Amino acid sequence: MPGPDEEQTHDVTQPAGPVAWPDGGRAAAFLGFDMDAEDVALTVDPESRNRLSAMSHQAYGPLTGMPRVLDLLTRHDLRATFFCPGYTAERYPDLLRRVRDEGHEIAHHGYLHEAIAGMTRQQEADVLDRGLDALERVVGVRPVGYRAPMWETTYASAELLLDRGFVYDSSLMDSDLPYELAERPGAGARSIVEIPVAWALDDWEQFAFVPDLFGPGVIEDPAKALALWTGELTEAHRHGSCFTLTIHPFLSGRLGRLRALETLIETMAGLSGLWFATGREIAEHVRSLALTPRVFPQPEIR
Ligand code: ZN
Repeated sequence: MPGPDEEQTHDVTQPAGPVAWPDGGRAAAFLGFDMDAEDVALTVDPESRNRLSAMSHQAYGPLTGMPRVLDLLTRHDLRATFFCPGYTAERYPDLLRRVRDEGHEIAHHGYLHEAIAGMTRQQEADVLDRGLDALERVVGVRPVGYRAPMWETTYASAELLLDRGFVYDSSLMDSDLPYELAERPGAGARSIVEIPVAWALDDWEQFAFVPDLFGPGVIEDPAKALALWTGELTEAHRHGSCFTLTIHPFLSGRLGRLRALETLIETMAGLSGLWFATGREIAEHVRSLALTPRVFPQPEIR
């Protein structure tokens, strides 16, 4: 039986309310680049390490896509967030140093892009610590942001992140506004800022394909992805929400796709009162609003 506090807390589960953006802004836009490289393939199938062509497909991100992405952001004088698996950081240290030195935020994205689903609490904690150690050693960064690989989190994740000093997570999908998420139901719980994501706002579903590894085998036209994302961007702007787009440099770093992304950035620049921010900036702003944390009790099956 839940205690009285718990029952009371369950009652306040409700949708995220409107967010007041800084300086009277109308809406927010957040570009998060997930630096999945060889790691995401190695987690799906460790034997893929023997497939040079598959490895080269993944290496396109750090070797070819990322320099272009960084140049694009510089051209538009934008700072973005790079969610980086520890393994990517160790394999491409010079690239990570460039990301850091150009003023972008480096955030946590697992170690080997591990799928957390089914892990024990200790296993999940170990992966977090291994990723933290890699980012610390390679670039001296202690991240405040986290995005779970494949957006798979558990009911223990918020507490594990808070214990390690994280301020925000960007892996859940129950809102298009950031909010404060309680680590657990009940009185005295801490909270973490959540910046929600959406499968429709992820280039993985548009472009990811490696035979026998992942992807549906359908590679979309960048124009189709651009139309989808532009429609969501303009509605986010109209509704005062947060447009959160997830980009993988090994996918969107390719020429035609990067051109589509630049067109989207140009559209953003033309939207009045749109606050382009890093995850950290959004999280710090949301924290300053002192919102009432929401709870997400685990569903029970009776
Ligand atoms: Zn990823």
